[in-house]
Amino acid sequence: MAESPAVTLPVASLPILAIEAKGLTKTYAASKRMPEKQALRGIDLEIPRGSVFGLLGPNGAGKSTFINILAGLVNKTSGAVNIWGIDADKRPREARAALGIVPQEINMDPFFTPRETLDLMAGFYGVPSAERKGDEILDALGLGDKKNAYVRQLSGGMKRRLMVAKAMVHSPPILILDEPTAGVDVELRRQLWEYVRKLNARGVTIVLTTHYLEEAQEMCDQIAIINKGEVIACEPTPKLLRRMNQKTLVVRPEHALDAVPDGLADLAPTLRKDGQLAITYKIGETSIEKLLHRLREANVGIGDLATEEPDLEDVFVALTSD
Ligand code: ADP
Ligand code: MG
Repeated sequence: MAESPAVTLPVASLPILAIEAKGLTKTYAASKRMPEKQALRGIDLEIPRGSVFGLLGPNGAGKSTFINILAGLVNKTSGAVNIWGIDADKRPREARAALGIVPQEINMDPFFTPRETLDLMAGFYGVPSAERKGDEILDALGLGDKKNAYVRQLSGGMKRRLMVAKAMVHSPPILILDEPTAGVDVELRRQLWEYVRKLNARGVTIVLTTHYLEEAQEMCDQIAIINKGEVIACEPTPKLLRRMNQKTLVVRPEHALDAVPDGLADLAPTLRKDGQLAITYKIGETSIEKLLHRLREANVGIGDLATEEPDLEDVFVALTSD
């Protein structure tokens, strides 16, 4: 469904960057209910074409503000945005035609059926009838048997998938999902990711925000961490993990331990519920060989051992704690 980008450009001129933001700022003016708020403080981001790009950050970090500026729903205060190689200030309609956006909030007319909803969207984008792929998209998202039901009769998860379908009717080369798995159960989430991966395999650039850190780790090949309106890290996922530069050695002692042996206290190991002893260490500062030596000195027989990489949660905490 995404074979033909909405903006048809010769292959030779495909942009290297799907999205590029430079010095993007946003200050929301004060209102009766809210004081002035500087939501974005100069965002520089380069989102490569073909990637699955994660925008990760705590609530209030500015993720939705960023996406809503791309979508043209929020006016930026300053900075520049290029979408699919098109300056969004100079050619806003063309730039936005390259985007399919699934907003954080579900907003749909409850009195239309999914099929009518998609037809309306396709009409809005000027997709000719013969080129409409509404049924195919609904099938791919597991909504085929609901296409003639009223939207108000759909479950929350189905509505969210319909939002994704709506975003894809004009076959945009970029799909942006803002917190797509909020309120979606495990099975539907799996289905959603499967579809997203399929689109990506066909060349669609995916941008998603999530605070499910494991999900970003699993889905994204590049992650930008955004905190208080600033990008504090932007790297390929494995590099971001390596930057943490730490690993955990997990040992199953030959004989069960009651407590962490005194002689190992300086390594700050933890005794896990399953009886495994976990020692987190900095690569470069110490080595497995040294740790094994220390374990032998402390008379801990090694039944089995493994190493663990830090997960994104650790990375995030480490990067955002001052
Ligand atoms: P995120 O999506 O990362 O949770 P948002 O972009 O929604 O963050 O919000 C960033 C900050 O901007 C928050 O402090 C939020 O309260 C504020 N904000 C968002 N939208 C508005 C608005 N329309 N008016 C005023 N402040 C807003
Ligand atoms: Mg948000």
